[in-house]
Amino acid sequence: MFKIPKKINKPIYLDYAAATPVDPEVLKAMSPYWSKNFANPSSLYKQGAQAATAIQHARKTIAETINASGSEIIFTAGGTESINLAILGIAGKFIQLKQNLKNKKLHIISTQIEHHAVLNCLEFLKKQNFDITLVPVNKEGVIKHEDIKQAMRPETILVSVMYANNEIGTIEPIHEISKILKFENDLRQKKGQEKIYFHTDACQAMGFLDSDVQKLGVDLLSANGSKIYGPKQTGFLFIKHGTNLQPLIHGGGQEFGLRSGTENVPGIIGLAKALTLATKQKNKETARLQILQKFLIQEIMKINKVSLNGPSSHIYNNELKRLPNNINITISDVEGEALILYLDSFNISASTGSACSTNLNEPSHVLKSIGQSSKQAQESIRITLGKYTTKKDIIYLIKVLNYLIPKLRKTINF
Ligand SMILES: *Cc1c(COP(=O)(O)O)cnc(C)c1O
Repeated sequence: MFKIPKKINKPIYLDYAAATPVDPEVLKAMSPYWSKNFANPSSLYKQGAQAATAIQHARKTIAETINASGSEIIFTAGGTESINLAILGIAGKFIQLKQNLKNKKLHIISTQIEHHAVLNCLEFLKKQNFDITLVPVNKEGVIKHEDIKQAMRPETILVSVMYANNEIGTIEPIHEISKILKFENDLRQKKGQEKIYFHTDACQAMGFLDSDVQKLGVDLLSANGSKIYGPKQTGFLFIKHGTNLQPLIHGGGQEFGLRSGTENVPGIIGLAKALTLATKQKNKETARLQILQKFLIQEIMKINKVSLNGPSSHIYNNELKRLPNNINITISDVEGEALILYLDSFNISASTGSACSTNLNEPSHVLKSIGQSSKQAQESIRITLGKYTTKKDIIYLIKVLNYLIPKLRKTINF
């Protein structure tokens, strides 16, 4: 039996997929833009022009990082807004064009394991008379790109597939899907028809995966600051030239008319800095976290009746299959929520399913999509590593889990 581990007073934060601390360098880059360079970027005098230049510079930095051009980047207030602008923006455009479609319902394809920002946009569109197909995933959470192909119809206007899943770390085959879409769109172009647009939610991917939008072959890519050590409520949407969107927010015409309102200058500066740092550290940090991830998975699997959710091998054919920071496990006969609270009493912060769905109080749609029962989904927890996670933290976590799991099982059985 395991003894009570000696409690460490330092908080052990293992929920980096929910939020990341703002990097000190990001904070430093932002600091002049609160009280010193505070002018409205639309103002004509010098200070206004300086703020506008700073935004322009941030836009260029982000564009270069993802191999786009500056005019293809729209700043938003986070991942959710970027996703809403992408999906509802395309839908809005097509509603205007609908007369060409002889009153057939417009059709959108997505997956069962998307973030609620995507799923609830689609739910909203369903009520506006859109037809939605959510393709299933296999046991590891991967979609079959053939399923996307099968789901396509003449009325399909958009495919939205997340780059990497926030709960189980699965990386989706974005390149393969864009190949299928390119083939279909070449045919459509010859017939003079509208193309199918391709959006990816890359919020969990930006810190780890290749984000070259040319290589990915996407028309729209959503990202945010709060998952890459930048400020919350910051984000951007990449919109490929020639992709026309209807804005969600109407007003003064900022952000090329697509996102009105005085720009969040410090946020934009912070987002650009965060993305620059993330890109610079990507390879090294991925390699470092993979070692910790492998060690943690190996040790956790030694505990009785514990199983890993999501991809089993994190590298396959030289390609990453799982985010290097994600470990999602099911612990038979232990309630996930109870375990999270007990971990908290040991100063360890982890998560059940996804942070965003905890207030919904229903078992994770992602875990159910990979074939878990509601009971299994409720016996699952997510541990996500990050920049400040050390081997020592992991060793402590393993000790605490080895102590808590048998103890909680015993309590339940009595
Ligand atoms: C966090 C997250 C979002 C939402 O981003 P916000 O900045 O919180 O609005 C969307 N999709 C995924 C995959 C995420 O992880």
